[in-house]
Amino acid sequence: MTLEQQAGTSSPAHDPAVLQQAREAIEGCLDTAAMRDLVLDRVRRNEEWRGRRCVNLVAAEAPTSPLVRRVLSSEAGTRASGGAIGRDRRWFSAMAVLDELEALCVELLKRAFACSFADPRLLGGMHATMVAYTALAAPGDTVLVLGPDGGGDSSHTAEGPPAARGVRLASIPVDASGLDIDLDRFAEVARRLRPPLAALGQTTTLFPLPVTEIREIIGEWGGRLYVDAAHQAGLIAGGAYPDPLAQGADLVTASSGKTFCGPQGGFALWNDPALAEPVSHTIFPVLTGSHQLNRVAALAVATTEVLEYGADLAAGMVRNARCLAAALHERGVPVLGAGRGFTSTHQVLVDARGWGGGFAAASRLAEANLVVNQQPLPGRDDTAFPGGVRLGTAEVTRLGMGTAEMARIAGFLAAVLRDGADPAAVREEVVRFREPFQTVYYCHESGRP
Ligand SMILES: *Cc1c(COP(=O)(O)O)cnc(C)c1O
Repeated sequence: MTLEQQAGTSSPAHDPAVLQQAREAIEGCLDTAAMRDLVLDRVRRNEEWRGRRCVNLVAAEAPTSPLVRRVLSSEAGTRASGGAIGRDRRWFSAMAVLDELEALCVELLKRAFACSFADPRLLGGMHATMVAYTALAAPGDTVLVLGPDGGGDSSHTAEGPPAARGVRLASIPVDASGLDIDLDRFAEVARRLRPPLAALGQTTTLFPLPVTEIREIIGEWGGRLYVDAAHQAGLIAGGAYPDPLAQGADLVTASSGKTFCGPQGGFALWNDPALAEPVSHTIFPVLTGSHQLNRVAALAVATTEVLEYGADLAAGMVRNARCLAAALHERGVPVLGAGRGFTSTHQVLVDARGWGGGFAAASRLAEANLVVNQQPLPGRDDTAFPGGVRLGTAEVTRLGMGTAEMARIAGFLAAVLRDGADPAAVREEVVRFREPFQTVYYCHESGRP
């Protein structure tokens, strides 16, 4: 399926059966306090299960520190914030202290990423991609993007944000493994199309991309390079992954809740002063009204954690990912990138086609409290029926697990996938294994593990 054809596939709406269950539960309540308790019960049950009894290997997640969680419920989150920092730049008055707060977040992010400009007003990594497609491209422009065959993310498909901007997409050529960009073919396609923008955004990110080389080619006609570092942000800040801005990227956006380990949200980073106006104008008034200052406050706190502990945490995530991959490989579970040390990030990609594909494998693992996600395999486009499962080490690393624990986890995964063990039996072992790992490390409260 080409990116163009993907435009025809629609995203599913909510499952009516689950909504029906919720409606019946609400109708069964005698009063609104009982309805409230229904809500609180789901929060508590998930916290108990996902928060304490599962091994979460979803690469797009990370646990926040207790302080970040408290700050997320702060009073700042009740204030309207439309506009930019500064008395004459906001619609609302009495924002002086909140201006100071937001300025701290901006300056802390600039420090963490050694860049000239940072903007934390994006509500998610997906939201942040719209900044690039709005500020750096015009409707009708053709933009070069990574498709699913290159580990590309849905935020850069003809179904996603670029479509809302009326931007046309062309695919960046990748090699047969899908783990690398084919630079010769890229140069050919790029020189023919001369796009104003190329976007590198990967949901599957095992090895760094040739950012410097791509920037050089695009620069021949003044094109810009945008890197969506949603997954890699914490690794970049921690020095465990190449810094795309230092490699010449014009704009970088990120999720703040993946390897960066902050509250869920997004931010943008850049160095060129000429981008300040178009980026800021895109964020307000195009994409945000109030941008959730509690989230900004929590992100500022999380950034101080990254400044203090980010290097150790990022190195630990990559070390754990390599160790987990090698341990799976030893146990006969097929892992991508075997010839290259499996991974240079927090991610590990397992080929699950032998176990009914990504959805079947992930569902079976979830029954054992091993939480992973289905993932298309690079080198092909199997988005409709993903053949892989993706594992990530952000959460297990932040909980203080190391290489010995990675071997245990590989054993659990192999038992369910390769040996066809009863997931309920494995679940009991997983719950016992997880029990002593309840503290979030790499934060000011608990320091290093
Ligand atoms: C996860 C991801 C996003 C979306 O980020 P959210 O914070 O979940 O909105 C965007 N781009 C890429 C490449 C991603 O991996």
